Amino acid sequence: MARFTILAGLLAMLIAGRAFAAAPRVVASIKPIHALVAGVMDGVGVPALLVEGSASPHSYALRPTAAKTLSEADVVFWIGPELETTLEKPLVSLSAKAHVIGLLRADGVKALRGVSAETVDGHIWLDVENARAMVTAIAETLSKADASHAQSYARNAADVKAKLAALDENLRVILAPAQSRPFIVFHDAYRYFTNRYGLNMLASVTINPDQPPGARHVAELKAIIARNTSICVFVEPQFQPKLMSIFHESANARVGVLDPEGSALPPGSALYTDLMQGIADNLVRCLSVP
Ligand SMILES: [Zn+2]
Repeated sequence: MARFTILAGLLAMLIAGRAFAAAPRVVASIKPIHALVAGVMDGVGVPALLVEGSASPHSYALRPTAAKTLSEADVVFWIGPELETTLEKPLVSLSAKAHVIGLLRADGVKALRGVSAETVDGHIWLDVENARAMVTAIAETLSKADASHAQSYARNAADVKAKLAALDENLRVILAPAQSRPFIVFHDAYRYFTNRYGLNMLASVTINPDQPPGARHVAELKAIIARNTSICVFVEPQFQPKLMSIFHESANARVGVLDPEGSALPPGSALYTDLMQGIADNLVRCLSVP
């Protein structure tokens, strides 16, 4: 009987503890943001991911299951309408009952201009310093929404930032020898990365990965390749348009692969480091060939 009472007591404590410690329902829009949120929530809960698999954040279509996940969320993190254009409508209507945080406007995030003066480049996570600022904003938002885990969020955020500092230092070291080597990227996503590490990116094939470049731009790209006796052209795993074969034919150009949105990577807290390290490793692999 005594044993039963102790067991029942333990069970009640477990249930009560669980109810008390329930994590808020958190949703992150794209994989790199999801990774940072997952890091801050480590040991507390697991955020849901909207743009799954190899779907492109630029042309994402909200499916019914994802719409349901969104409608049940307490907190949603996304970049902003500059990147996940199709999420603007559903998130504006959701913001009446949930915390919706557009990280492009978070304190400390430095946004770069897009191709034209009035646009903003939404690929903010490709600068480690922006990732640090986003981690701060994520931890502050979660602590407000869920004060019972504020200590965990603060501790995790400090851990993630320490990892980001080590990653940044590592990338700086491995990319330094490749700084002057010219290359062309597939879509206009990399300016945060190339600015931070001082790389010699000459052009991108397309601004929007879902729109092929015009004939005039293709001619410009061919001219750039012809001027450089050794150049790398980087495709992306999810976008394999036929036009890339134009560059395969050139004797000057070598072809590499970069994955700026993590489309080929499994989601989770390790994704951010894997994504950044992957870009650096693939750049170095192609650019170090003399
Ligand atoms: Zn992009």
